[in-house]
Amino acid sequence: MALTALDTVAVTAFLAVSLSIFGRKMYLRLRYLFTGQRKEPRWDHLPTRLKNFVVYGIFQRKVAREWYAGVLHSFIFWAFVILGASVVEITAQAYAPGWRVPTPTVAGFSLTGPLYLAEEVIAVLAAIGVGMALYRRYVIRPKKLMHEGMRDATIVLCFILGIVISFLLFNAADAAAGTVALPEWKPISSAIASTSIFRFDAALWWRTLWWTHVVLLFSFLAYVPHSKHIHIIFAIVNTFFMDLTPKGALKTVDLETSETFGVNRVEQLSWRQLLDGYACTECGRCTAACPANATGKPLNPMRIITNIRDTLNDQGGAIMRDQVDGLPDMFQTVHTDEGIWACTTCYACVYECPVMNEHMPKIIDMRRNLVLTQGKIPPESMDMLRNIETNYNPWGIGWDQRGRWAEGLGVRTLAEAIAANEPVDVLYWVGCAASFDDRNRKVAQAFARILKKAGVRFAILGAEEKCTGDPARRIGNEYLAQTMIRANVATLNGYGVKRIVASCPHCFNAIKNEYPDFGGTYEVVHHSQFLQELIRGGRLNPTRDVLEFLTYHDPCYLGRYNDIYNEPRDVLYRIPGVRVVEMRECRDRGFCCGAGGARMWMDERTGERVNHRRLSHIEETRANAVATACPYCLIMLDDAAKTKDREDIRRFDIAELLERSLS
Ligand code: SF4
Ligand code: SF4
Repeated sequence: MALTALDTVAVTAFLAVSLSIFGRKMYLRLRYLFTGQRKEPRWDHLPTRLKNFVVYGIFQRKVAREWYAGVLHSFIFWAFVILGASVVEITAQAYAPGWRVPTPTVAGFSLTGPLYLAEEVIAVLAAIGVGMALYRRYVIRPKKLMHEGMRDATIVLCFILGIVISFLLFNAADAAAGTVALPEWKPISSAIASTSIFRFDAALWWRTLWWTHVVLLFSFLAYVPHSKHIHIIFAIVNTFFMDLTPKGALKTVDLETSETFGVNRVEQLSWRQLLDGYACTECGRCTAACPANATGKPLNPMRIITNIRDTLNDQGGAIMRDQVDGLPDMFQTVHTDEGIWACTTCYACVYECPVMNEHMPKIIDMRRNLVLTQGKIPPESMDMLRNIETNYNPWGIGWDQRGRWAEGLGVRTLAEAIAANEPVDVLYWVGCAASFDDRNRKVAQAFARILKKAGVRFAILGAEEKCTGDPARRIGNEYLAQTMIRANVATLNGYGVKRIVASCPHCFNAIKNEYPDFGGTYEVVHHSQFLQELIRGGRLNPTRDVLEFLTYHDPCYLGRYNDIYNEPRDVLYRIPGVRVVEMRECRDRGFCCGAGGARMWMDERTGERVNHRRLSHIEETRANAVATACPYCLIMLDDAAKTKDREDIRRFDIAELLERSLS
C-alpha cells in the first residue's frame, strides 16, 4: 500500500504545523523556567540522580504506592515508550513506502518480530489502562481527582485511546491489504483483519486509518504543551533533579548577602522549583495526604504547585520583558496567608508526590516572605517568638530553669562533668518541651532514670541549652532561628560534643540535618534508637508485664523525615504484656498531630482540629492507649483526649512504658 503524492504534501503541511506549535510552546515553557532568579545547581551526585531517574522516573515506584493508579499508569507509560518505534515507522510511510524501523539481531534472531508483538500487547494494555482511568474518574470519582483538571485529563485520555485503537486498526488494515510485515508477530491486528469489515476495499481502509492515526498522533503532540499533560515530558526530568539533601533540612538563607527574603513572586523561585509546576500530573495525592486540607483549612498543596505553573504561564512573557509591576503576586494567585500558615510541615505532600515535587519548602519560602519582608505573623505566635528571643524557649519560662526537671535525679550537666573530670559518652539533648512542659518533664525524668539504670555515662547542657531554632525557622523567622542555631553550635563545639541523644524529633532533626550547615556536625540519635540499642545490647532488660493494648503514633519528624519507623516499635515489642495494633494511617502514611511547623503556637480556627482527627484514627483501633516518641505529639494527643472527653485512651511516650517494664 502506498500513499499518493497529494497525501505526502498534505501530511507534510500538517506535520509542519503541529511540530511548530509543539516546538514554539515548548520553547516558551523552557524560557519561562529559566526566568527563575534563584540559582539552584542540581548536577551533583550523578550516579544517585541516574538511579532516581530509573527508579522513580522510568519504573515509577511512587506511582505504584496506589496499586490501581500504578497499574493503569504503567500500561500507559510503557505504551508511550514502546510505541515510539511505530510512530516513526507509520509516519515514514508518507515518504518511504514499506520502510521499517531497523532492529538489532541477537544470535542470528531479528528483534523485529518481538518488537511488533510488544507493540500490539502494550497497545491493548494501554487501552485497558485508559478504560481504568476513565472508570476511576467517572465512576469511582475519588475526591482528589475531582478538580478543574478533569476536562483536560479526559481529553488526553481520549487522545491516547484513539491513538492505540487506531494503531491496532491500521495494523489490521495493513494485514487485510496483505502488506503487513511479519503478520505472525501481530496476532491481535491479524485477528481484527480477519473480521468481515476489512474484506471490502482494503486500500481505502489502509489509507483512512493511516490518516486517522497520524492526525491523532500529531494533534496530541501539539496539544500536550498547552495542557497539564506537559508532565509527560517534565515529570521524568523532575525525578532526575530531585532534592538530594536530607529531607528534614530547610535551605539556609544567607542573611548577609540576601537582598530579599522568602518568595512572593514566581520569578523569585529557582528553575527547579518552577519545574515542579510543569511536572505535576494533578493526581491530587499531595492534597489527599495533607492533614490541613483534610480538616478543612484553606490549604491545597496541589494548587500550590499548579498555581505556580499557571501564574508562570500567565506572567512568563511579562517577566521576560521585565514588566512585572502591578502583576498579582503568589499570595493573590496561589494561596491566602491563612492557607500558608495552615501547613504543619508534615512532609506528607512531598512524600506522596510521584514526580518528586517539593511543596513544603515553597510554603516555608512564602512564610519567610510574610515574616521577614511583609512583617506579618499570626498574632498569637508573637509571644512564642518573643519567648525564644528572651528566654530561649517558646514557653517563656526563665532560661535558668531549663534544668529544673532533673532535680533530685543525680543528672550532671556537661560543665559539671568536665569540672569533676568525669567521662561523658553521650549528651542528652532535652529540648524545650521536655524541659518546660509538665507532662513532658515526666518523660525526660523517665528517660534519665532509664539511662542511669543502663549505666550510660551521660550529661545535659542544663541552662546552656537553647531552643534548636526549629519553631522559629518553620514559622519563617530565619533570623531568630539562625541566632539560636549558632549559639547552640558554639556551645556544643566548645565542649567538643561528639554524640547526642535527643528525645524530641524536632530537635533531633534540626541538630542532625540542619546544624551541619552551621558547622555543627555530630552523631545524633533519637531516644527510640538509643533505647533500642540499649535493649539489644543487653543493658536494659524489660521483664515486667505492662498490660497495655495500644497503638503507636508516628511523629512526622521521626518517620517521614528521618525514616525511623521500626526502632520505636521494636522498643514497644520488647516490653512484655504490650500489645500493639496499627492505625490505618501509620508509618509513612502517618497523619500529623497538628503541632509541626510551629502550628503548636497558632490558633486553629477553621475546620476540624488536626489532633481531633488523629484521635479519631486512634479510636478506630479500639486501643486503650497510644504511645508516641515526640513531646509535641504527646501534648497534642493529650489535648485531643481531654477536649474530646476520651481520657480513657491513655497517652505515653515509649520511654515511660519501657521504664515500667524494667525491674
Ligand atoms: S507539609 Fe503537610 S500540612 Fe504542609 S502542605 Fe504538605 S501535607 Fe499539607
Ligand atoms: S504535586 Fe505531585 S502529588 Fe500533587 S498533584 Fe502534582 S504530581 Fe500529584
